[in-house]
Order: sequence, then C-alpha cells, then structure tokens
Amino acid sequence: MFENLEIWWVTGAQMLYGEEPVRIVESHSKEMVEGINAAGVLPVKVVYKGTVMSSKDIEKVMLEANACKACIGIITWMHTFSPAKMWIHGLQQLRKPLLHLHTQYNAEIPWDTMDMDFMNLNQSAHGDREFGHICTRLNVRRKVVVGYWKDKSTLEKIAVWSRVAAAWADAQDMLVIRFGDQMNNVAVTDGDKVAAEMQLGYHVDYCPVSELMEYYKKVKAEDIEKLVKEYFTLYDHATELEDPATEGYKSVWNAAAAELAIRACLEDKGAKAFTTNFDDLGTDDINAKDFVGFDQIPGLASQRLMAEGYGFGAEGDWKSAALYRTLWFMNQGMGGCSFLEDYTLNFDGSQSAILQAHMLEVCPLIAEQKPRLEVHFLGIGIRKAQTARLVFTSKPGAGCTATVIDLGNRFRMIVNDVECIKSKPLPKLPVASALWIPMPDFEVGAGAWILAGGTHHSCFAYNVTADYWADYAEMAGIEMVHINKNTTIPEFKKELRYNDVYYMLNK
Ligand code: MN
Repeated sequence: MFENLEIWWVTGAQMLYGEEPVRIVESHSKEMVEGINAAGVLPVKVVYKGTVMSSKDIEKVMLEANACKACIGIITWMHTFSPAKMWIHGLQQLRKPLLHLHTQYNAEIPWDTMDMDFMNLNQSAHGDREFGHICTRLNVRRKVVVGYWKDKSTLEKIAVWSRVAAAWADAQDMLVIRFGDQMNNVAVTDGDKVAAEMQLGYHVDYCPVSELMEYYKKVKAEDIEKLVKEYFTLYDHATELEDPATEGYKSVWNAAAAELAIRACLEDKGAKAFTTNFDDLGTDDINAKDFVGFDQIPGLASQRLMAEGYGFGAEGDWKSAALYRTLWFMNQGMGGCSFLEDYTLNFDGSQSAILQAHMLEVCPLIAEQKPRLEVHFLGIGIRKAQTARLVFTSKPGAGCTATVIDLGNRFRMIVNDVECIKSKPLPKLPVASALWIPMPDFEVGAGAWILAGGTHHSCFAYNVTADYWADYAEMAGIEMVHINKNTTIPEFKKELRYNDVYYMLNK
C-alpha cells in the first residue's frame, strides 16, 4: 500500500553565489535522493522536486504538494544558506507533514582542500538553523532528523516518519462505519466526532444494523461455503465442526456469512474501519425457522477483517477503530498488531501482568501459533448463543500499545511500552489473548495509564514503537504522553498538569 506514494524532497539554496553553485546543489540533491531510495530503508520513494531559491518557488512547490494525492509529506534540507523569510508564505500554506533533515552532502570536512568556494556551497550547518528558526517562529509542526544521509540510523528515523505520514494520508479520507451505536453509558469510548474529523481527519458514520442485514440476506450460499472451506484449511479445528449436520458447522457458516456481509457493506461505502455492538444485532428472531442474521456479535469476522487491515473497535469504539486502521497501515510488513482490551489482572510480584483479550475480537496477526477455530456459547448482549471465534495465545516480546481519548478540550494519546510474557490457554474461556507487563512495571504502568484517563481498549503492535506515535501526535497536533521504563508517578502527574496548562494556553 506504500507503492504509489511519494515523499517530496525540496532543497533550499539561494542565488547569492551565482549559477555554478546552484548547478552543483542540484546534482548533489539528485545524488542524495537516488542514494536514499537505493538504500532500501524507506518504505516510500523520495522524489526530488527541485532546489528552491525564492518565495515564489517555495510557495509553488508547497501548493503542488497540498494538491498532490500521492505526496504524503515533504523533506526539506538546506544545502546552502537559504534566507528563511522566503519560506514564510510557503510554510504557512503547507498542509502536508514536514520533515526537516539536518544533514550535509559531504560527511567529513576536507581539511586540506577546503576553500571559500566549498564554504559557499556547503552551508547546511547554518542554513538548516535558519530554516529551523522560521519553522519554530511560525509554529510549524515537523520532525527534525539530524544525521548523515547515508547512515542507516538516519534513514531509519526517516522511515518511521514515512510510515506515519503514509498512515496519516490514509486517515485523511478514512470512513469509520458504526454498526449500531456506542455501548450505553460508556464514557471513554465516546467523544466528539466533529473534533475528530477536524483534528484527526477521519469521518465517522452510522449504519443501521438493518441495512447491514440487507447485505447479509444477499450473501450467496456458494460464497459462504467457499469461505467456510477456507477457514478449515487455514485454522486448526475439531473435525466434527466440518459436519454440516452439526450446530457447530451452522455457527461457522453464520460467521462466514457475517464476514462476507460486513466486507461487502464496507466495500460499498468505501469504509476503512468499523465498530460493532453486542446489543444491536438486528431484530430477526434467532429461534425462528427461517432465521437469517447474526447469531451473536460477528467476532470471527472482526478478527479476520482486522487482519486484513480494516480498523475495528468493539462496543462502538470508533476512536479505537480509526486508530487500529492507522496502526495496521504503519505496521504493514512489520509484525503483528491488534485491538485489545485490559481483561483481567494477574498479581504475581514483579511479574504482575494484565491479560489482554476481548469477548471475541483479537486480531490473529499477533498469534503465537496457528489459530484454532472454535465454537462456544457467549452469554452477553441481546443474543446469548453459540458462536465461532479464533482462539490463540500471543507471541512473547516487547511491544507498545496506544489509545486516544477525548478530554473535552483536546485529544490525548496515551502510549505505553509493554513486555508480552508467556500466556496460558484458557480452556473454560476460549478467547484469544496476550499477557503483558506494562512498563516500567505493573503498578506504575497501570497507575500512570489510569491517571492519564486511558481507555480499557488499546491498539497494540510489537514493532510500532512510541517513536511512531510521537510522529503521529506531532502530525495530528495532539497531546501525547508516553509511559515507559523511566516513568515515575510523581513526574508523570506533573507532566499531565503541565500539559493541562499548555493546552489551556494553546487552544
Ligand atoms: Mn470492550
């Protein structure tokens, strides 16, 4: 999903020293862009968009970037000194994410040969500070990356930003569909959808479950049977589940029909994320002979659609649904990710941990072993019935989880580094799960999360670290707090209080 995207590279210079230095700036810039692309560290290709030397040049390229769908962001670098008043109009109009790369064409000072011609050309040391000054003066949100352009560590920082910028672009035309409303009375999953669209880009719509049921009724039996067969090939399962005469088979069949109906509806609407609610499953009578509809919340469908890249939030949690889509998008090719809920606690001294699960909806991308397709009774919501789900435990290892809450005057992102430890199967509660210790330990990690007002739902990945979320929060212009190995409760409380003042002053 990154292949059609572009990052634009704009070099800053000026005409003070004549045509020749500018020609060299051009050739250096091209060489650097080609070198960066060839290094293969960035997931998105960089396109050299020229060396700018006037306010008009800059405004033109910024407006073109705004209008170009493929352009997910701009990298600026000042080869020579670029007097920054000429950046004012352009930067004021830039609507795409900005990365300011502080680097230099040459790695080392050519001590023996350096002359004034060299100095007139290689001025990043002061040119990039002049540019940084105007960005700060204009309050331009950006990422500053400092490092030599050939170094892997420099490119890796740009790669993080690239993935986030790509996901940010993806979120700007994201439609989140709510099948049913929020779970009644729940505070943290609610919020201001208008503010979310203004600040985070995505749009949240409602789709009555009755409309979804129209899709359900149109799903073809042969497509359902095909999908059921696919399940049996993909997942471990009890052999008797394959017998069409059994109730179990019927549940799997219902789950496949639900998946096809939801996918068709989301495709029709062009939606990238959705929520469900166990209290709204349509009005059909499950005991009627000719029953068509959801036998329970469509858990298996949610699990598989999450793996496919659809954002998902349970109980109408549209903020988590949108965030999961963004996480999945950034995380492509990088390892597992899932929507999760703080399910139950395991007190065990320094190994005290939180079991992460949900009634059904955990994404199989984080599974440690081949998921097992099982059918069990689920006694919650308007329909208490047997229903299919994928059961597994998750891979141990370091990870990071994130959520966004609405504080009324702003959105706050809360990020927590976590250590996933070995989980155990739950024979009497067959759901997928992970087990993690929040950093720096359970007491401080969970305590800080609660003080920050964090949800019981979050979006987890093994390899999308807090660095990604910091870039996301910067692009979105939202608050972010990061609970990590260095967190202490007194300092964290101070940070929350300082942030309250900051956001009061900077509405
Ligand atoms: Mn939940």
